[in-house]
Amino acid sequence: MSNDGPTLNDDTPRGGRFPSGHSHTHGAGIRHTHPMTPGQQAHAEGRAPGGAPGTAGHDFDLPALPGAVDVFDTTLRDGSQQEGLSLTVDDKLRVAEQLDHLGVTFIEGGWPGANPKDEEFFTRAPTELSLHRSTLVAFGSTRRAGVRAEDDETLRHLVAAQTEAVCIVAKSSEMHVVDALRTTLDEAVAMVADSVEFLASNDLRVFLDAEHFFDGFKANPEFTMRILRAAEEAGAETLVLCDTNGGTLPYEVERIVSDVLGGFETQVGVHFHNDSGCAVANSLAAVGVGATHVQGCVNGYGERAGNADLSAAIPDLTLKLRVGTIPTERLELLTPVSHHIAELVNIAPNPQQPFVGASVFAHKAGLHTSAIARRSDAYEHISPELVGNGTRFVVSEMAGRSSLAMKATELGLELDSQAMSSVLDSLKRLEYEGYHFEVADGSLELLLRNSTGWEQGFFELESYRVISDHGDGQSTEATVKVLVGDERIVATAEGNGPVNALDGAVRAAIGSHYPALAGVHLVDYRVRVLDSAKGTGSVTRVLIDSTAGDRTWTTIGVSENIIAASWQALSDSIVYGLLHADAASGG
Ligand SMILES: [Zn+2]
Repeated sequence: MSNDGPTLNDDTPRGGRFPSGHSHTHGAGIRHTHPMTPGQQAHAEGRAPGGAPGTAGHDFDLPALPGAVDVFDTTLRDGSQQEGLSLTVDDKLRVAEQLDHLGVTFIEGGWPGANPKDEEFFTRAPTELSLHRSTLVAFGSTRRAGVRAEDDETLRHLVAAQTEAVCIVAKSSEMHVVDALRTTLDEAVAMVADSVEFLASNDLRVFLDAEHFFDGFKANPEFTMRILRAAEEAGAETLVLCDTNGGTLPYEVERIVSDVLGGFETQVGVHFHNDSGCAVANSLAAVGVGATHVQGCVNGYGERAGNADLSAAIPDLTLKLRVGTIPTERLELLTPVSHHIAELVNIAPNPQQPFVGASVFAHKAGLHTSAIARRSDAYEHISPELVGNGTRFVVSEMAGRSSLAMKATELGLELDSQAMSSVLDSLKRLEYEGYHFEVADGSLELLLRNSTGWEQGFFELESYRVISDHGDGQSTEATVKVLVGDERIVATAEGNGPVNALDGAVRAAIGSHYPALAGVHLVDYRVRVLDSAKGTGSVTRVLIDSTAGDRTWTTIGVSENIIAASWQALSDSIVYGLLHADAASGG
C-alpha cells in the first residue's frame, strides 16, 4: 500500500446499469453501434437526481450541486505574493472597492501586524472604505506553540483589526508540524482549538485555512482531520481546505473533499494554487461534491503559478453549473473589473485569460468569420456580453476577404470589390513591412476608411522635429508645424520622451480647434525592434493604446526611425480619437 492517497484506479468498476453501447449514424452513413467509451460510460453513470435539469446545453441532469457558493477574494493577501506585484495602501483600498463593486462575498485585506502597510490598511479601511456588498476579512495564523492564545501577538492584532471576520492559517500536515513548526501533533491541534475559541469569544467569524491540507491528508488523514475537528468544535464558521503547493488534481479533490463533507457539519471551503494548471478545475470539482466557499484571486494572481482565477471560476460556476456566486446582474462587470484591477496592480492583462481576455472572443480565420456572422454561438462557448466582454474580428493578411468584409460591416463601411482588393493588397504589403493590424484596430479602421476615399481633415502635417537633451535629467522637446484649414500653426512642447513631447506639441497646436482632444489620453506605448524582412537592418514597431471614456483603441507605426514610427502611431491615435468624438457629438 502506498500512502500517496487515492488514485483513480482505487474505484472498482461499476458497469451494467446503462447500455454498453449506443447506435447512431455518421453523416449519411448507415445506422450502426459503437461500444461506449469509458468516458461516456462514466458520464452516464454520473447522472444524479436533484441537479438543475437541462442547463448548460446538457440534455441530462447535472450532479447535485449546491445552489450557491461564497466567493472569497484574496488578491490583497495571497495574490500580493506574486513576483513583481506591489501595492501601496491607496492601491489596496482601490482594489477592495473594485472587488466590492463586482460583489464578491469576502475580501481578504491582508495580515494586520505583519507589516506596516497592512497595518495602515486596516487602520484606514473603517473610515476610507465603504463596502456595499463584501465583507472585509483580516488574515493571520494560529497562536504560536507554547504561547497562550490571549498572549499571542498575531491573535491580538486580528482582534484589533476590527473586521467582522478573520481567517487564520493552521498547519494541517504532519510533515509541516514536525519539520517546520517543530512541535508535537497534539500541540498543533491545541493551537487550532485555542486560537479559534479565542477569536470566536471576541465575536469574530472565524475561517480556518488548513494549510497543506491535501498533501497532509494523503500522508496522514487522521491528523489532518483532527485539525478540522478541533476548529469545528471551537466554533469555526468555515473549514477551508488549502492546496498550498498546488499539485493536487481534480479527481483527488473530489475524493478528499467528499470525505471531509461526509465527516463534518461545518461549511467546507477550498483554496487552490495553480501549480498543476488545475486551480479553477479543482475549485469546480470541489463545488461539484458540495464545497460552498471558494477562495482565489480575480486574475489568478499569486506566488509561483498563482491562485485560482476567480475571473474564470465565477462564470464557470454561474453560467455553466448554475451555482450562484456574485449577484447575477453584476456578472457583466467581470471584464471591466478584471482590467481595472490589472491596471491598479500594474500588470498588463493577459489577452488570452479565459472569459475576460481581449483575445478570447476574437476571431481571425476567414472561413470562421463568415460562419460566425451567421451563428455567433457556433464559435463562442458563451455570449461574451454576459461577462462584459465582446466579440471582435481581427484582420490580417491571412484572413482574406470575408473577415475584412465583417470588419467593414462592423464599422458601417461599404467596400466594393475593388476597394476590398486594394485594402487586401495594402494589408499584405504593410504586414510584410512589419505592421501588425490584428493588434491595431484603430489604424486598421483608418486604413479601411481611406480605401473608401475618406481622408482625415482635422490637420495636415507640415513637419515635426524632436530634440533629446542630456542636461539636468533628461528632457525631450518636440516642435510640430501643422495646417488646420488655412491656418498654419507652430507649437512646441517638452516631455519625458519623444511620444510624450510630440503628443504635447500636437495638442498645443490643434487643441483649441478640437476641445474633444482633451478627453483623449494615451495609456500605453510599446516599442519593438523587428528584424527587417530585407535583412538590411532593423525596423521599429510602435504601438500606442489610447482611451476616451469607454472606448479604447490601438494604433501602429513602423519605420526604421523610431521617431517616425512614433509619429505615425500618435497621429493615427489622435485622428481616431477626433473622428469618434465627432461621431459621438453628432458633428
Ligand atoms: Zn495560498
